[in-house]
Amino acid sequence: MTNLTSAERLAELRTNLAAVKARIDAACAAAARPRDEVTLVVVTKTYPASDTRLLAELGVRDVAENRDQDAAPKAEECKDLPLSWHFVGQLQTNKVRSVLRYADRVHSVDRLRLVDALSAEVVKSGRADVGCLIQVGLESETPEGAHRGGVAPSEVEALAETVAAAPGLRLDGVMAVAPLVGPFADDPRRAFGRLAEIASRVRGTHPGATMVSAGMSGDLEEAIAAGATHVRIGTAVLGARPTLR
Ligand SMILES: *Cc1c(COP(=O)(O)O)cnc(C)c1O
Repeated sequence: MTNLTSAERLAELRTNLAAVKARIDAACAAAARPRDEVTLVVVTKTYPASDTRLLAELGVRDVAENRDQDAAPKAEECKDLPLSWHFVGQLQTNKVRSVLRYADRVHSVDRLRLVDALSAEVVKSGRADVGCLIQVGLESETPEGAHRGGVAPSEVEALAETVAAAPGLRLDGVMAVAPLVGPFADDPRRAFGRLAEIASRVRGTHPGATMVSAGMSGDLEEAIAAGATHVRIGTAVLGARPTLR
């Protein structure tokens, strides 16, 4: 990748994007869902700002990052671009101020303290409301309960209520990563089906919470079949990451 000229990298990203969009088209058709119900969010983590710039040139409008240390300088370098930034990683409260300088949405809201910190910072900074998604930890429905982040399904509604009532925050929906352990391990279809049930319950009390953020490079078809509205795709667009994160 580092040896490619910018024109070559642009061509590579164009090809990869077209392939991912074709997969999304096919998955929507298979699920009899309108194509415009699904938004592609490109996860640019570990890749340079120059790639984000090329993606914007190719029409990408939604990008995601999972570490503030990498995302903050990248967002600063790209602030002239018409991009919406999604934060999808574990968020420590001491990073909230930095993240809220660029992120329009946080997909990884998973605890009360984080809700309080986000709300306080939005109010203090006077910025526009930030969209919040409750991250659901589907693996926590197991006795082992090994956490990849996310609140237990039984606690989603209480946390959603808190977000909805918090000044400066908007409850946009729910997010999950297909679990590696527990009853849904290696079964993304069932995992995302469970997420869809939870999403629907949340929408029952909060009709505006329409986002279901699910599906990555390996399982976007299963996510779209289960009703995902936002797929988060890294590898299939940018290539395999040098380090696992
Ligand atoms: C890295 C990451 C993705 C993208 O994963 P790929 O398999 O590279 O498509 C999606 N969601 C989250 C939360 C991530 O951290």
